[in-house]
Amino acid sequence: MLIIASSNGAIGIDRALQTLKAGGSALDAVEIGIRAVEANPAEHSVGYNGYPNIMGELELDASIMDGSALNSGAVALLRGFPYAISVARQVMERKLPHVLLAGAGAERFAREVGAEAWDEMLTEEIRAVWRERLAAVGATQSAARRSDDIPELTDESPMLDLVKLATDPERVAGTVNFIAIDSAGDIASGVSTSGWAWKYPGRIGDSPIIGAGNYADNRYGACCCTGMGEMAIRAGTARSLVLYLKMGMPLAEAARQAMLDLRDLGGDYIGGMNLIALDSAGEHVGLTSRAGGSYIVQHVDMETHQMLEREVVAIPARWGGNDGPGMLESTAFKNLKGRPSSG
Ligand code: ASP
Repeated sequence: MLIIASSNGAIGIDRALQTLKAGGSALDAVEIGIRAVEANPAEHSVGYNGYPNIMGELELDASIMDGSALNSGAVALLRGFPYAISVARQVMERKLPHVLLAGAGAERFAREVGAEAWDEMLTEEIRAVWRERLAAVGATQSAARRSDDIPELTDESPMLDLVKLATDPERVAGTVNFIAIDSAGDIASGVSTSGWAWKYPGRIGDSPIIGAGNYADNRYGACCCTGMGEMAIRAGTARSLVLYLKMGMPLAEAARQAMLDLRDLGGDYIGGMNLIALDSAGEHVGLTSRAGGSYIVQHVDMETHQMLEREVVAIPARWGGNDGPGMLESTAFKNLKGRPSSG
């Protein structure tokens, strides 16, 4: 019995391990561990009190996978329900023929299965950070208006370039990953996130995409990702790593190959990526594209978790040519400055 998690899973890993010790399944452990992170108001990249999208709405993504049958469930763009991982598990276990529900349909489903709903998903502290970020790029919501020079951001506002300015995945992204092996040797993996802060409304990352941010197969192992989800979607990272295991690579090599696949991606937007993985024998690794990352592990006989350094496979970042985050002189900024203010 063993659990590995991204370092922000520290708040839930002990509860998850106790679940395994009490005879719970790997799926139970993953769900319980992640719920603790989703409820943590100090964690701004997962669940309640995460950073919202550019319109100030919190949209959650999550997925869970059962490595014993390759069953999985996922939700994306979920609003008003803090425990996205539990809703994802219900998608898997309610015997729907579906794997991924998004937006209004996911919320309808969450209501139908009686998932816990919260009226307030953001604290005033986080709303203030969002308003500051909008103001920094020259847009605001009426509630956040500071001066008549700053135009209002509405559903009709042009956002294509604005999002590139306001979204800074280097500083305001994050996700929680949990992978567990239970006493029966079954492996489960789970991922939950509020995605990038200030993302374009409707943007879905890798976390709810089985094969991208999450994959588990009892026979070989499991992998979960954090970082720039678009990259893991494009490279099919979690599934690739498990496939490399199936092809006979040792875990460390499979993980490096999955990171090298990410390094080979073309295009203008390349950011940071991290993964944790384990194989069916319980060996585990954590990798990152930048120095300084860690992950945590707790075996059944450990009193508390241990933090381990991730191995670095460097991936040089690229960000939109000359139009990187934080630059205020883009067309979108000028257009917004030019729009008449209202309200
Ligand atoms: N992978 C998440 C996403 O792209 C964000 C993160 O882990 O930083 O939504």
